Amino acid sequence: MSDVRNTIIIGSGPAGLTAAVYTARANLAPLVIEGEPSSTSDQPGGQLMLTTEVENFPGFPEGVMGPELMQNMRAQADRFGAEIRTEKVSRVDFSARPFGIWVGDPTAAEPTYRAESIIVSTGAQAVMLDLDRELELIGHGLSTCATCDGFFFRDQEIAVVGGGDSALEEAGFLTRFASKVTIVHRRDELRASKIMRERAFANPKIEFKWNSVVTGYLGDSKLSGVVLEDTVTGETSEMAVTGLFIAIGHTPNTAIFKDQLEMEDNGYLVTGSGTSTNVEGVFACGDVQDQTYRQAVTAAGSGCMAAIDAERWLEAQED
Ligand code: NAP
Repeated sequence: MSDVRNTIIIGSGPAGLTAAVYTARANLAPLVIEGEPSSTSDQPGGQLMLTTEVENFPGFPEGVMGPELMQNMRAQADRFGAEIRTEKVSRVDFSARPFGIWVGDPTAAEPTYRAESIIVSTGAQAVMLDLDRELELIGHGLSTCATCDGFFFRDQEIAVVGGGDSALEEAGFLTRFASKVTIVHRRDELRASKIMRERAFANPKIEFKWNSVVTGYLGDSKLSGVVLEDTVTGETSEMAVTGLFIAIGHTPNTAIFKDQLEMEDNGYLVTGSGTSTNVEGVFACGDVQDQTYRQAVTAAGSGCMAAIDAERWLEAQED
């Protein structure tokens, strides 16, 4: 069937675009369905489109702006002939090959595209507090990644929101740079594991604001503090901080793969050897299957792996 593609890549963050570069250079003529901007936090290019300076992506000694890095990756995929469409997948059918992919009306009888192999790289989103001006302050004092942005807060007083393992891990890491890290938690008991709690309690640079939620951001173009509300008394107060790290969980973008691909209880895709999923010919890479590292460079690395896995799998089918 001539309209069946070799490979369709769903998602256009570092994982998807790296997979696009590799599959294009392997002459697989990949189609990348890059997504559609449906809200400021959900747009083609993934999480790096919401960041400012990226200083830890190898090859950029002076750092690079997140959106510029993604434009470069897109241009590189384009240069080798990857076809990139600004569309959003509404439904998939992985029950038989060639696989079906719908954009637009998910009830349409026929899929919009069909492909012999699929690379899923739809990423994940940090859960946010959904407060006014949140998205415009990301990269200007507000962050969801201590590994990425901690370095910018040397000798400053900052805060972390959350009471789970991530919040405590981020807070501990941030004490390498910041002079003080306040953990703001909505209850008076942490969800985090015992060892993480003990470490945090023993760290002299970590303080806790119990029974508190952040209800507003202070500062114009840059964060200068937060408004806190006491969840018991309802009292509000202000706390001066130059940085706030939100660590209240991540959500993988896997709703369209429900009942099609094996996932963990929290929605992350399960990958077996390399980047293979439970469906032969469907591969997954990047944050959609990674709860541990969540870095641009690890996403890009797994995008390369998925491309090679798909290429070898397609070759084996021909044989
Ligand atoms: P999590 O365990 O679900 O914790 C989320 C935290 O954010 C909870 O304390 C929750 O408060 C709080 N929260 C949620 N929504 C909130 C909101 N709207 N406003 C204020 N606070 C809010 O998520 P996680 O910490 O990202 O961890 C995810 C998984 O990865 C866990 O299984 C964790 O153990 C694992 N992990 C392990 C390590 C490690 O072992 N080194 C490191 C990181 C993550 P409540 O407690 O009141 O619900």
